Amino acid sequence: MSDLSRPGKIGFVSLGCAKATVDSERILTELRIQGYGMSAGYEDADLVIVNTCGFIDAAVEESLEAIGEALNENGKVVVTGCLGAKGDVVKQNFPNVLAVTGPQATEEVMQVVHAHLPPSHDPYIDLVPPGGLKLTPRHYAYLKISEGCNHRCSFCIIPSMRGDLVSRGSSEVLAEAEALVSAGVKELLVVSQDTSAYGADLRYRSEFHGAAPVRSHIQDLSKALGALGVWVRLHYVYPYPHVDNLLHLMAEGLVLPYLDIPFQHASRTVLKAMKRPAHSEKVLERIHSWRQICPDLTIRSTFIVGFPGETDQDFERLLEFIHLAQIDRAGCFKYSDVEGARANELGGQVPEEIKQERYDRFMRTQLDVSSNRLLQKVGDTMDVIIDQINEDLAIGRTRGDAPEVDGIVEIDRFNEDLAAGDIVPVHINASSEYDLYGEQVQPMAGT
Ligand code: SF4
Repeated sequence: MSDLSRPGKIGFVSLGCAKATVDSERILTELRIQGYGMSAGYEDADLVIVNTCGFIDAAVEESLEAIGEALNENGKVVVTGCLGAKGDVVKQNFPNVLAVTGPQATEEVMQVVHAHLPPSHDPYIDLVPPGGLKLTPRHYAYLKISEGCNHRCSFCIIPSMRGDLVSRGSSEVLAEAEALVSAGVKELLVVSQDTSAYGADLRYRSEFHGAAPVRSHIQDLSKALGALGVWVRLHYVYPYPHVDNLLHLMAEGLVLPYLDIPFQHASRTVLKAMKRPAHSEKVLERIHSWRQICPDLTIRSTFIVGFPGETDQDFERLLEFIHLAQIDRAGCFKYSDVEGARANELGGQVPEEIKQERYDRFMRTQLDVSSNRLLQKVGDTMDVIIDQINEDLAIGRTRGDAPEVDGIVEIDRFNEDLAAGDIVPVHINASSEYDLYGEQVQPMAGT
């Protein structure tokens, strides 16, 4: 039993994608609001919450391992997150967990915590900073604008775990963004399952932000976020036609010239089998026109190789696309069945060694494109946000690099007072396959 004379202490394990991180941050914020303490280890925690991922089999395994470890080390475990939405997987493996919830279940999680560890809330102590509790460094934060997805890509089980699209109203999103900015955030990373669909479920209704109405539409929301004067980076943008309009905001400098847009493949047949839009020629045309509107545009994407039925010709089409579209950054996954996905029933499974061969060729092609694109930046002076300073090396990112997934800039000459979160001009002296190297030109006033 816990000692009620001190606040209950919670251990927290956060797994999964940026959307799951936001769920973790919400639970942590609520815990802190209610007076709970946090524990960095299992031993002195009164209870452990494990936020799981269930997207692919490897993530399921990692989540099950984390639950097992928390049970062994502590014994009182609440499981939340995507794996919780996957039927009885958790209960079957670990019947003695205290409770299992799906993703986005802050309230449910809090109810279980209350039942097993009543709060000792002191209303005179407010331990929560204005932007809530964050798992990211102080200078950047994920901003979740919607949950769920209306698409039904055949390889994906996210809609069955997280449901159809549910957007947050523009006023709520903007209020959170303002709180984050006033707490010192310099870069907002907009996340969702499908960022370009934002607001469709709300029929793009307008809500008041201060005196001005803002439509719950990605274009209007991006503009309003851009007006906060911080970097705004858009992730998980599905290639709808209205994405073209976002490029003008990028060219105007309101939103970072960066599109994280998961194309998944370029062959019409594979895209059809994936149940994704199947017009890669049109996509190529659009990318060319995007780069005309916004020449600095960086495109990040993800692709799947070895999808059932993918022929050599389909794969060659994909490599050609990477080359023609000059995709700056790309993640590649070898297809594997995911329990519950419709793609599992497709015939034409690609043998593992061919998947591996295609994966290797994909990565070599992408490395070529990436290193050539970066080489073109040598000699430029670019704004860089500083993530970290070691003794004689500062590490930062350009507007074209998202934290954790993209490249970095190593800065070996910089001003003494340079600090994490500063945005400073850096002269680029050299490049490698994925990273840039340079020196600080001068500090930027007011950042
Ligand atoms: S758009 Fe993304 S989240 Fe939605 S079904 Fe397709 S892969 Fe899954």
